[in-house]
Amino acid sequence: MDPASESERIAVLAPIGRDGPLIAEFFRRERLECVSCDDAQRFLHELEAGVGAAVFTEEAVTPGLLERLRQLLAAQPPWSDLPLILLSGHGVAGDRRTLGDLKLLGNVTVLDRPVQTRTLISAARAALRARARQYQARDAIVARDRFLAMLGHELRNPLAAITFAVDRMRGRMTPPKEIEIVHRQASHLSRLVEDLLDVSRVTSGKVTLSPRPVDLREVVQRAVHTHDSWIEGRHMHVVLSQGATAAIVNGDPARLEQVVGNLITNALKYTPAGGRIDVMLEVDVAADQHVLRVKDTGVGIEQKALDRIFELFMQVDGTLDRSQGGIGLGLTLVRSLLALHGGSIVAQSEGLGRGSEFIVRLPRAAVQPVVEPEARAVERAASRLDVVLVEDNLDIRDMLKELLEEDGHRVSVAGDGGSGLSLILEKAPDLAIVDIGLPGLDGYQVALQARARGHHGRLVAMTGYGQPEDRARAAKAGFDTHLTKPVDVDELRAAIEGRAAP
Ligand code: ADP
Repeated sequence: MDPASESERIAVLAPIGRDGPLIAEFFRRERLECVSCDDAQRFLHELEAGVGAAVFTEEAVTPGLLERLRQLLAAQPPWSDLPLILLSGHGVAGDRRTLGDLKLLGNVTVLDRPVQTRTLISAARAALRARARQYQARDAIVARDRFLAMLGHELRNPLAAITFAVDRMRGRMTPPKEIEIVHRQASHLSRLVEDLLDVSRVTSGKVTLSPRPVDLREVVQRAVHTHDSWIEGRHMHVVLSQGATAAIVNGDPARLEQVVGNLITNALKYTPAGGRIDVMLEVDVAADQHVLRVKDTGVGIEQKALDRIFELFMQVDGTLDRSQGGIGLGLTLVRSLLALHGGSIVAQSEGLGRGSEFIVRLPRAAVQPVVEPEARAVERAASRLDVVLVEDNLDIRDMLKELLEEDGHRVSVAGDGGSGLSLILEKAPDLAIVDIGLPGLDGYQVALQARARGHHGRLVAMTGYGQPEDRARAAKAGFDTHLTKPVDVDELRAAIEGRAAP
């Protein structure tokens, strides 16, 4: 819908007597766009679709409508505060109570009847003006999120090249100190970019989970161990306590590890060296939930900031000297990912300097975890392959080619979709690694056309987009495997050897 019309339409609900047609007539005379609704259902439908203001009479308010209105208004995004104009009076029994209830709805202007036309029109104009501002704020948020998603994608390619180059150097020699610094900082940047992309996916509803029964104890252990060198480096005392029986939830293991990892990262970031972090996993039988507590002895959080820290880009002033970086994305992601799992999170703190505690709740699942077969160890590059590499980023292309050749493969390269397709058809390679965002034909087209012309070799897609729908799209185009950038060297070798998940 055109945003201008959304913010200019007034929905009117005045089902009894002549009020409805009269109000509509007043508005039309003033050139105000108005939808006169015959019943509550239609009125609510218009509100859901988006309006500039809503006018309704007190007689139209039933307990059912009141409840639906309350739900609808509570579900408004943070930029929205829909203006309501209530025409009261006419001595209806229960007036006082209805009015009291209505005030809970938020942005309500009450006009006593009989209302002068001038009063009604000026109230409507004021409401529309305020609403237009809200829609402007919404558009700015949408533009910001679109920009951030694009920025994330644009940052991914150069980062992929840096990560690749550094991985290669580290694999080849005992790396000098400077290389370790580049490695550490590039990993840090990659994490920020991934968080940025994740947040924009979550806020636009594009994250889908691959849930299965997962033992939370394993998730927590993995998340803690990932931080081992950080914990040691800062002489932190991390105490992990969990029960002897499996703590099963139905969830996406990678996403759950991301949640726990984020909380541990924060505890480490906001606790001075030598501090203590308790990670406790318990069961709340009454609520049928697993409860995870991550408690630190760090800088703490002021009472008034406790709820706001979960908002996007929110950082508490004064708790951070910026030495640990961060852009206020982590907790937004944590909360959204938990909500997708039917879980929740709250923060507690006795105040500044007195440590913080984050309490996560997730519904218990009864099922036993699936026992994963032990990963089979495969010798690297068992055979030499003919490989075609289609990638437009010169640095990534050069480095991948070098890596593949060192592993003994024969590599031909192309820098755009059209010549990539020709090369695949000409060489009929065992394996083709194809970037998706290519000039000319994109990677999907390359795969589709290669398959359509009878190419049987393995096709590996390489892209900045790693969501299930991207994987599904790659599979549909004819790819056997999908790698998300920045691809790490081991992952790439696994894909070449056919060990990676499709
Ligand atoms: P970031 O850490 O990148 O700034 P987060 O969303 O992870 O973003 O956290 C938001 C804010 O919440 C942080 O900037 C910090 O002020 C506060 N915070 C998070 N975890 C803790 C903690 N364990 N102790 C104290 N403050 C914390």
